[in-house]
Amino acid sequence: MTAEIIDGKAIAATIREEIRQEVAAMQAAHGRVPGLATVLVGARKDSETYVRMKKKACAEVGIASFGHELPADISQDELLAVVEGLNADPAVHGILVQLPLPDHIDDEAVLAAISLEKDVDGFHPLNIGRLSMKRRDPLFVPCTPKGCIELLDRSGIEISGRNAVVLGRSNIVGLPVAMLLLHRNATLTVCHSRTADLPAMVRQADILIAAVGRAEMVKGDWIKPGAAVIDVGVNAIDDANDPRGYRLVGDVAFDEAREVAGAITPVPGGVGPMTIAMLLRNTTDAAVRAFGG
Ligand code: NDP
Repeated sequence: MTAEIIDGKAIAATIREEIRQEVAAMQAAHGRVPGLATVLVGARKDSETYVRMKKKACAEVGIASFGHELPADISQDELLAVVEGLNADPAVHGILVQLPLPDHIDDEAVLAAISLEKDVDGFHPLNIGRLSMKRRDPLFVPCTPKGCIELLDRSGIEISGRNAVVLGRSNIVGLPVAMLLLHRNATLTVCHSRTADLPAMVRQADILIAAVGRAEMVKGDWIKPGAAVIDVGVNAIDDANDPRGYRLVGDVAFDEAREVAGAITPVPGGVGPMTIAMLLRNTTDAAVRAFGG
């Protein structure tokens, strides 16, 4: 059996088109569009790229974006003042503070300063707290985890009652995706660097979410036949045949796994495009709330 490929690029394109139409309807109804403020501190190349991609994606669907590029040595108080200003700005419905922040900044304090109604990254402690409780709905769910669930849903993969195994327990991917799966009535196992016999755990998975950041760690013979595999990992490995000298691979050995799995996401082109699509979704939802539906 060869797995169905879950085409994150195509699914994300569909979602962006849905959002584009919603934004156009909002513009027609209210004469206003959703607005996303991006806050970039310092000049990390990867962070600059992510922020540029997010702004471009906003422009393509008609969401206004407001970029704030701040020096790496900005003080915590100055940064908090920027966030407060954005909280008060009615044209801004979502605030995205690009992580990581420089070491001298307390990122928890900055994330907690973002107005709950504008927390489109879903990292505000109260949103995370609600995500971690039964029958409490966070206003926003973090984008990459939300994208993983959306990929399962849009591929018609049942979650309720099935064994889900999450590899990784980070605050940005592993833990929130685990909570989402639990809310959707999966039976959940979370694995990490201290897990004994990882292959045996993974073999239990009807749904596997891999978010460890280890190139091709999950082998084909770890996969339960027919399982759905969502590979969040993005790892660069040397490749003399690629003009860049490297290529990107996931946490799952794709060629082996696709022979066993029922459905699998490629890397790139799986989870990655969904993260930005979910940011656009969250920003649009924030604007819908602000405009009163
Ligand atoms: P972190 O490094 O924060 O967390 C990695 C997790 O994996 C930790 O919980 C760690 O365990 C666990 N882990 C590490 N090594 C092993 C191992 N050998 N066996 C079992 N578990 C292990 O990573 P992130 O969650 O931030 O990211 C994970 C991956 O997802 C990365 O490749 C990243 O690039 C990618 N990513 C992709 C995104 C996208 O949009 N496509 C968005 C965000 C991330 P422990 O807790 O014990 O240390």
